[in-house]
Amino acid sequence: FDMFVLAFLERLFRPSFRKDDFVLGKKLGEGAFGVVYKASLSNPKASPKLGDLVLKKATEYGAVEIWMNERVRRACANSCADFVYGFLERKSKGKGAEEYCLIWRFEGEDTLYDLMQSKEFPYNVETKILGDIQDLPKGLGRENRIIQTVMRQLLFALDGLHSTGIVHRDIKPQNLIFSEAARTFKIIDLGAATDLRVGINYIPKEFLLDPRYTAPEQYIMSTQTPSAPSVPVATALSPVLWQLNLPDRFDIYSLGLIFLQMAFPALRTDSSLIQFNRQLKRVNYDLQAWRRMVEPRAAPDLRKGFEILDLDGGIGWELLSSMIRYKARRRVSAKAALAHPYFNREGLGLSVMQN
Ligand code: ADP
Ligand code: MG
Repeated sequence: FDMFVLAFLERLFRPSFRKDDFVLGKKLGEGAFGVVYKASLSNPKASPKLGDLVLKKATEYGAVEIWMNERVRRACANSCADFVYGFLERKSKGKGAEEYCLIWRFEGEDTLYDLMQSKEFPYNVETKILGDIQDLPKGLGRENRIIQTVMRQLLFALDGLHSTGIVHRDIKPQNLIFSEAARTFKIIDLGAATDLRVGINYIPKEFLLDPRYTAPEQYIMSTQTPSAPSVPVATALSPVLWQLNLPDRFDIYSLGLIFLQMAFPALRTDSSLIQFNRQLKRVNYDLQAWRRMVEPRAAPDLRKGFEILDLDGGIGWELLSSMIRYKARRRVSAKAALAHPYFNREGLGLSVMQN
């Protein structure tokens, strides 16, 4: 069979749905281009295996988000939340714009953001991954291993996307959901890609990206690139353009900031992250210089981050420093990061099996 025949057959035999097939539950989120609800089938017997669902009502950019999700499901299904179906809902005449519906499996209640808000972090994640409480003493070494496991899961998911040719562009704790079934974090919200698609020319840039997590470069593709698509998007770029621009390193910077927040309790709030970004910019994105600036008068919550990253000869600090760099081409790729010595030591049992 040819790939296209398989894709066609898959589509043909997958159940198809319309809006009336779903009952909406509580609202989970509301962005600029859509609203997200918890949902379930009106007639659960129709597809008993589906269980709880998530339904996103999206405006015009929903088409691209559907396309991205279909592509992810075929190319790197484990990286993102399980996509069930996407369709265009034609509104009755005269009642405003067309609306897209996207359906996923409900992966769980907690995003990495929710988990990081808790004082228990990272132990609350360890409990989720291992399913029971460990009786090892709490301490820096154990916290480091949990963070290491989460980082491995996140890099693994991101590597899947990047290997498929997709750059997410909106990697942040709110867009990383913990899948209770897979006991691993998965990436959600391929909607930013959509925003970018329509481009830079039409939407003010504050709209496009979350400023707290964006890399210093504004666009993932150099505007000088010959024959660059008018749209610097998160889709399958030609390998040549990919090599030339390394657009995936945009996501690596964002993930570096998440690594930073996991290690430093003092940097987990929005305001402290914004302050960190300001400080880093002031020292020209030189992480070592930032450290020299803040470490001498660091409060315990900040010092703890350095202590965690300095374990094992500072191997964690080394990885972090290779992710948060001004120049995209000096940042490590997701695949290279996974091979970094930081991950050589055994993490939590499950993560070893996964890779
Ligand atoms: P947006 O950020 O555009 O509102 P998202 O796709 O990020 O849309 O979804 C909003 C929120 O809904 C997420 O932050 C998460 O809390 C929840 N959510 C989204 N997809 C899932 C899923 N598959 N399983 C569980 N929760 C989800
Ligand atoms: Mg989101």
